[in-house]
Amino acid sequence: MCGIFAYTGKSGKDAGKVLLQGLVSLEYRGYDSAGIFTPESGSIKTPGAVAELKKKVPKKFNGKSGIAHLRWATHGEPTKVNAHPHSDCQGEIWIVHNGIIENFKELKDKLTKAGHTFVSESDTEVFAHLVEEKLKKAKSAKGGFEKAAVAALKEIRGTYGMAIQYKGEPEKLIAARMGSPIVLGVGKHERFIASDASPILPHTKKVIFLEDGEVAVITPDTHTVYKLEGSRVSRKPEEIEWTAQQAQKGGYEHFMLKEIMEGAEVIENTLRGRLIPEKGLAKLGGLEGVAKQLAKIDRIIIVACGTAYYAGLVGEYMLEEHAGIPVEVELGSEFRYRKPVINEKTVVLAISQSGETLDTLEAVREGKRRGALTLGIVNTVGSTIARETDAGVYNHAGPEIGVASTKAFVSQLVALTLLTVFLGRQRGMQPSEGKKIARELKALPAKAQKIFKGKGAIEKLARKYSEARDFLFIGRKYNYPVAFEGALKLKEISYIHAEGCGAGEMKHGPLAMIDEKFPTMALAPSDSVYEKVFSAIQQIKARKGPVVAIATEGNKEIGKVADDVLYVPETLEMLMPILSVIPLQLFAYYFARNKGYNVDRPRNLAKSVTVE
Ligand code: GLU
Repeated sequence: MCGIFAYTGKSGKDAGKVLLQGLVSLEYRGYDSAGIFTPESGSIKTPGAVAELKKKVPKKFNGKSGIAHLRWATHGEPTKVNAHPHSDCQGEIWIVHNGIIENFKELKDKLTKAGHTFVSESDTEVFAHLVEEKLKKAKSAKGGFEKAAVAALKEIRGTYGMAIQYKGEPEKLIAARMGSPIVLGVGKHERFIASDASPILPHTKKVIFLEDGEVAVITPDTHTVYKLEGSRVSRKPEEIEWTAQQAQKGGYEHFMLKEIMEGAEVIENTLRGRLIPEKGLAKLGGLEGVAKQLAKIDRIIIVACGTAYYAGLVGEYMLEEHAGIPVEVELGSEFRYRKPVINEKTVVLAISQSGETLDTLEAVREGKRRGALTLGIVNTVGSTIARETDAGVYNHAGPEIGVASTKAFVSQLVALTLLTVFLGRQRGMQPSEGKKIARELKALPAKAQKIFKGKGAIEKLARKYSEARDFLFIGRKYNYPVAFEGALKLKEISYIHAEGCGAGEMKHGPLAMIDEKFPTMALAPSDSVYEKVFSAIQQIKARKGPVVAIATEGNKEIGKVADDVLYVPETLEMLMPILSVIPLQLFAYYFARNKGYNVDRPRNLAKSVTVE
């Protein structure tokens, strides 16, 4: 995910200033590098956020039109050369892009053979050269630039939200959308292209949202929307009522809610290009270089902290059951002070959203010192853990702004499933099993959407239990770690006492706490341990404890015992945590919001913990 912004106008405004100002409100979408281009003043790019770019842009940088970008790297580290805008060989075509061009390698090879020179590692640069190539053929024709851009768009696979500029026709900009958002702004003698409405709102409230497969051509006084295949789309601009701040949050009250609601999209983004469903295989480009070594390893130690640690625990169940590899999960903060027994057949796998978590990083270093192969599941490209591990899998979940991690957890579970299929298929997992997992993975986004539709009921439930001072979360097997994650979410943002507990452990102590004022959230999907969890619920009910059950759709029995039930769609046992955590995230969110707390920035906590 990144932020794009483009402007063309004859209203007397300076494009350089308009673009820089607009980038500030897009900063939540990406901040590892930034760049700007106007045909009059050229391009300036820098690692870092908008503030860095502002320092580098001279006073005289101006123009009547231009494009700008804030990057959240997916391909290539956040360096100056990898920053957008990217251009073709001649510096004629300029492009800013949000998304991933999946077939960039093939295209790059083909274009290199045709004589193009590439300067960056980014997937995006390929597109600028592809347009250049097409323009050679279309130049003399009327509407050559549009034709070339559309021909190039038809050759790429993956996701994009784009703005394209051609020096030969500086007033005109082309926008395109497939999977990544694009909004057009319609002002007086000026038009805009952006990833969300926030940078447009100071100029005009009139916007047009592009849909997937649509292309738009704008000039200061005109805007035309087409379908990629050529037919015209007539869509009137709509008036937007949001403030710039609301627009950044996609109309949601908090980033946390927005990020929870992005869950379905995040599952798709983490899976994109990584499954070969017909063969039941996972294709993880980041592990290709160590695939042979991975076939020989006999143990995995997962190191992580907080939410990522709970994702790791789910991974332990998956990897042991389906890939047959012994797994241990360690807190980074503990591992680094132990004398772990490690050899060259051990993998130390770090999970970290930011890729900067100090305890996890130190655990990786300790693993390296002792001769382990180190891997990472990391969301931030080019982060320290991503750089220091031998190989890894990026989450592609986009920046997470809310301090309480939500979409990153979902995406970590998806990445762990892919890893399980990858390693499992190296070790005797049957193709039929791989296919079954792949099929179910593909069905998850729609199932997550179904849970989101019921968020009103979860909000009501959070209100019903708003007086509770304590909350217990129980689960077993795959949902045991989810119970801990649910408790952590509630603690983090609502500041009440919440505890996770194995459903089988209740009788060994925690049951003593239960009374009518101590509610329990019980994860009870219809899986291989359902009956055991059901018994634990009955034991709690016998002590008058209120119970909210998370159960599989169609379970009629549980409503007779539990006080409240939240249903989730059916899926494979190993994948259930990806769905069952969503109601818990929403519950924690509404519970804290009702108390009036700042859920995006809970007291005493920081997003990325880079201290010991
Ligand atoms: N894939 C592009 C890059 O790595 C765009 C990234 C994004 O959308 O954040 O530069």
